[in-house]
Amino acid sequence: MVRTRFAPSPTGSMHIGNLRTALYEYLIAKHNGGVFVLRIEDTDQNRLVDGAMNIILDTLKITGLTYDEGPNIGGNFGPYVQSERKHLYMPYAKELVDKKQAYYCFCTKEELESRNLHKYDRHCFNLSATEISEKLANNVPFVIRQLIPEGSTTFTDEIFGNITIEHAEIEDQILIKSDGMPTYNFANVVDDHTMEITHVVRGSEYLTSTPKYNLLYKAFGWEIPTYVHLPLMLNENGEKLSKRRGDASFQDLLDMGYLPQAIINYIAFLGWSSPDNREYFTLPELVEVFEIKNISKAPSLFDHKKLAWMNGEHIKKLPTEDFYQLALPTLKQAIKANFVDLAAIANIVQSRIAFLHEIPELVDFIDTLPNYETALFIHKKMKTDLEISQTALKAILPVYENLNESTWNNETLYNAAVECGKSLNLKNSQILWPIRTALSGKPSSPGGASELCELLGKPETIRRINIGIAKLGES
Ligand code: GLU
Repeated sequence: MVRTRFAPSPTGSMHIGNLRTALYEYLIAKHNGGVFVLRIEDTDQNRLVDGAMNIILDTLKITGLTYDEGPNIGGNFGPYVQSERKHLYMPYAKELVDKKQAYYCFCTKEELESRNLHKYDRHCFNLSATEISEKLANNVPFVIRQLIPEGSTTFTDEIFGNITIEHAEIEDQILIKSDGMPTYNFANVVDDHTMEITHVVRGSEYLTSTPKYNLLYKAFGWEIPTYVHLPLMLNENGEKLSKRRGDASFQDLLDMGYLPQAIINYIAFLGWSSPDNREYFTLPELVEVFEIKNISKAPSLFDHKKLAWMNGEHIKKLPTEDFYQLALPTLKQAIKANFVDLAAIANIVQSRIAFLHEIPELVDFIDTLPNYETALFIHKKMKTDLEISQTALKAILPVYENLNESTWNNETLYNAAVECGKSLNLKNSQILWPIRTALSGKPSSPGGASELCELLGKPETIRRINIGIAKLGES
């Protein structure tokens, strides 16, 4: 059974790199019918940020990356939180001390600083058993350090292949801190083992730490998990994506108007490619196709333009009713006129936007007809000029006036315009363009002539055509 875990530290907002890790862990678990675990790594109490845990939980909820298990809290389950499991780690550290793979260290911060070390000098490794028992009996504060043996570690990463790291580069890292809390590095290994994690998926910045973990697994006699280290993510300046440099977090992207499902779809591609070059995926579709073998080790580039395009794709594919509900607050804000049907407008704009915030500009002509120049009626491609436009508008006015409100719909309006144009020997564009222009007062509008007529309703259509005729009469 494949078991993965997302192991964020609650230190602030949700970075895109973290969200990608969560997504890949989720996809690897779900693609293989496995289990996705959430584990909050909060053992570094100095780095904790209020509310950060909720950001993690909210992000997973909004994106649909639902975790599968955790400790029972009043009938609901978890996530696992390391600080709540504090008592678990010390016995493991002591086991390593017994196995001579770790040792007590009583050096104080001041002592370490005064020795000006590049790497811990193993001062306490050389203490005698009596010295150690005495200090422990006298409650001298201590940490427990991992004893890194001589030699090197070679391991295989699913993405980066075989990697060898010399132990000389590795410090005897602290496993248990003086406050009794495990370090991140130690808790991470104990938890991955006890939670039976099969695939450890994380950023490639952890590659160099992996030998330390493997030495721990070996010391305990535990099975080493499969490692999947993910490629770097670069921003548009080719720098490592980072919140510090002002790169957007998940919340920032939501605030900019991106849909969660578009963000997820886009992020999936930051380090992975689809086997058939398809680009639009829902989360369940990603689960279906996502395989580790299609993850790349080349750095991936965060491209806002591509994400914006993806957002448009997801907006277009939303069911009509879902889009209407999503757009309704924006539409209500943008349109006060009571003669229009907001659902119909939603329908017209859905295929024309990549962001909800593009709606107001598209529909601004509905409440108030802009005071446009007659030059708008002149369009080379549409083969219109002022004279043709005036002829067309004057001809269509009585036709539309005579139309019954009950047949006031796009199709009837379109056919009537085309008929009317024919009788005047005009091309379709030569009658439709003037109508569209008179109704919108803009060089472009969502929807053509008859769609706008239907949308604005009969009285407003007639009013605007009259305004057009009057303007053309003056010119
Ligand atoms: N707590 C670590 C982080 O937030 C997790 C790294 C890992 O997945 O092992 O980066």
